[in-house]
Amino acid sequence: MSVRGSGVNRGPRRQRETHRSGRSGWLRAAVLGSDDAIVSTASLMIGVAASSASKQAILIAGVAGLVAGSMSMAVGEYVSVSSQRDSEQADIALEQQELAAEPGAELNELAMVYVNRGLEKELAMKVAEQLSARDRLGSHLRDELGIDRASLARPLQAAWISAASFASFAAVPITALLVAPASQRIPAISMLSLVSLAALGAFGGHLGGAPRGRAALRVTIGGGFAMAVTAVIGRLLGVSLS
Ligand SMILES: [Zn+2]
Repeated sequence: MSVRGSGVNRGPRRQRETHRSGRSGWLRAAVLGSDDAIVSTASLMIGVAASSASKQAILIAGVAGLVAGSMSMAVGEYVSVSSQRDSEQADIALEQQELAAEPGAELNELAMVYVNRGLEKELAMKVAEQLSARDRLGSHLRDELGIDRASLARPLQAAWISAASFASFAAVPITALLVAPASQRIPAISMLSLVSLAALGAFGGHLGGAPRGRAALRVTIGGGFAMAVTAVIGRLLGVSLS
């Protein structure tokens, strides 16, 4: 991560990264976390249910999975977004130093960014001067490094969103358990979970501009496989340990 922002052609690379994790970044993270939440919680509950455990035991497994998963998502997001924020702040500090030390060279550098984007040299210089007059640091951060100060990485927000997202989607298989009749617990948990996965997969594909059907199919098959494996293991363990 610390490599970002150093090196000669950091501009374009930095910009692409920011773009990818930009405004739709948290939304995509929420959708990805929700797949995790459904697959892991449903699998956990199905594994326990397949061992012929009581409704109470399955419920405890589901709730424990929800809490553990939410906490682990929050910590993971906090750590990863914090290091992103650290590298943004290091970039900003470096740019401030450079602006103070070599204002002339920095102005030329900014003008060259606009030349590379297709402006004539004279016009580029004029643009650089006028933008610098208004907000010098902001112009350099935006056009040279691709950092928008209005959307800097927010570790706590990211942690909170992913934990909340995990918890709400882990509630899907738990709800299925609560409403299903005793004989239909495993089919109810898996069906409701797979339908939700398919819907989320289609939505995620839509966000990423990918074919929706294919995205939905992939996540549904993956989720179904995970549930089947834990069901078999739960069943085997239930038989051998009882
Ligand atoms: Zn600069």
